[in-house]
Amino acid sequence: MALMDLAIRQAMHSRCRFRMAAVLVAGSRVLAWSTNLRRNSPVIDFRHATFHAEEAVLRRTRHTARAEIYVARVNRAGVPLLARPCPRCQKALTAAGVIRAHYTVDPVATESMNLLDPTYRTLI
Ligand SMILES: [Zn+2]
Repeated sequence: MALMDLAIRQAMHSRCRFRMAAVLVAGSRVLAWSTNLRRNSPVIDFRHATFHAEEAVLRRTRHTARAEIYVARVNRAGVPLLARPCPRCQKALTAAGVIRAHYTVDPVATESMNLLDPTYRTLI
């Protein structure tokens, strides 16, 4: 799928240890994308050392209502790995009005999560 392929390609540009990227779309229109970003030195603040890709992309556009997000994580070789949004990002996406998150699961599979369904947000 083209939009997930875009997220996967972007994730390869991440400079973080976990290479992730998120692409925010409305229909087939790309609104914004971002990799995860370094925020603080991991030596100083390990737990909050990065902006997750989902957080970073939400900061790049205001047109988030009813949008969908594609989230990808890759290893050094560019092979997709599990990129399920963490609870904090799920909350941020829901607050921004994003309705669905699509994410890589392994080298071949993707899944999606309906952010309007509160039962999804308690699964992790
Ligand atoms: Zn997250």
